[in-house]
Amino acid sequence: MENKKYNIQTKLVHAGSAENKSMSNAVTGAIQLSTTFERNEDGVNGSFIYSRADNPNRKELENKIAAIENAAEVISFASGMAAINALLENILQPNSHIIIPDDCYHGTKALIQTFFTKWQVEYSLVDTSNTQNIEAAIQTNTKLIWVETPSNPQLKITDIEAVSKISKVKNIKLVCDNTFATCLIQNPFAHGADFVMHSSTKFIGGHSDVLSGIVVSKNKTAISDAIRLYQKTAGAVPSPFDCWLLNRSLATFAMRVKQQNENAMKIALWLEKNSAIGKVYYPGLASHTNHAIAAKQMCSGFGSIISVLIKGDEKTALKLASNFKLIKHATSLGGVESLVEHRRSVEGDNPISPENLLRFSIGIEFVEDLINDIENGIATL
Ligand code: PLP
Repeated sequence: MENKKYNIQTKLVHAGSAENKSMSNAVTGAIQLSTTFERNEDGVNGSFIYSRADNPNRKELENKIAAIENAAEVISFASGMAAINALLENILQPNSHIIIPDDCYHGTKALIQTFFTKWQVEYSLVDTSNTQNIEAAIQTNTKLIWVETPSNPQLKITDIEAVSKISKVKNIKLVCDNTFATCLIQNPFAHGADFVMHSSTKFIGGHSDVLSGIVVSKNKTAISDAIRLYQKTAGAVPSPFDCWLLNRSLATFAMRVKQQNENAMKIALWLEKNSAIGKVYYPGLASHTNHAIAAKQMCSGFGSIISVLIKGDEKTALKLASNFKLIKHATSLGGVESLVEHRRSVEGDNPISPENLLRFSIGIEFVEDLINDIENGIATL
C-alpha cells in the first residue's frame, strides 16, 4: 500500500501484508514456519533464504511498523531487552559513557550494570525529568543518552526536544524507550530522538501473550545497518508466530490504546480524590510535576499506566494489590486486561520504588467496573 495516502488506523490493518500474501487468497495472512526457502541456480530466489535472516511474518511486522512510524528502518527482536541490548552493543564502545534515567525499567539498568561494565562502560543514573541534570552529567566519552518517558514506574516525564538539543550539539546519540507512550501518543523522532525502542510485549502485542522488542530508526544510518546485521547474526529474533500475533494485534492497536487512555484518565482523577491514596503519578493530571511537558509531547492522551503511593506500608500495598477481583496482581502492562503490581518487590537487589507504590496498567474494560473494583479492594483492606 502507498505509505503516505492512508490514515494510521488504516495502515494498522493493511500495511505490510503484501509480503505475506498466501496462494489461497486468504484475507488473514498465514504463519510461515519454514526455516528455509528454496533457492534457484543463481544461488538466490527472492527475499528469503533462512528465517533467522528474514521471514515473511517478520517482514510484514517490520513493514507495518515502518509505515505507522514513517521510519526507514524497523528491526524486531525476541524481547524488549534484546532490542535494548542491540542498541547498546551498537552505539557504545569500550570505555564509553551512557546517561540513563534514575527511574527507568530496572532491566535496562541491570543490563548495563551487569554486562556493559565488563567493557569499562561508565554510566550515570540521572533524574532526566530535569534537563539540566543531563547537561551536568555529560562527559567527554558520553556516547548515548537513554530516555524513558513516561518512566517505569514513577511516570517521570523527560523533555525529549530539550534533551535532543543538547545531544545534537555534543554529537551524542539519543534513544527513547517509547514503551509506555507508544507511537500513537508520542513521536520521539518529531522531537529529535535518533532511535526509538519499544517493548512490543506491552501495548503493541496488547494481549499479554507475546514477548518481543522493536528498534526504530527514522533514517537508514551506519548504526541502523549495524543493528540490522546484529539482528541477523546474533539471532535474538521473534518467531514467525510471535510476528503473526503482533501483526494481528496491530489491527486493533489504535482502538485499544484510545480506550485504555480514556479509562486511565478517569481512574487517575478518581484515585486523586480517594482518601486511601497519598499520591497519584499520572502525566495527564495537572498535579504531575511535568504535566506541561507531557501535554506538549504526548499528542493524543497520556497513556494508561498510573502509579500510586497508598497510605500504608509494603504489607498493606501487597495486600491491596491482591484484593481486587478484576484487576489481576501480576507484572507487565499494556494488555487488554487491567493489572496492578507492587514494583519494589520485583526490582532485585537495589530496589528504588517506594515500598507503598503500586503500578496500575489500565485495560479496555468498562471503566465503572474498574473503579468499583478499586473501591471494593480499598474497602476490604
Ligand atoms: N522497557 C520498558 C519501559 C519496560 O517496561 C520493559 C519491560 O517491562 C522493557 C523495556 C523490557 O521489555 P521485555 O520485557 O519485552 O524484554
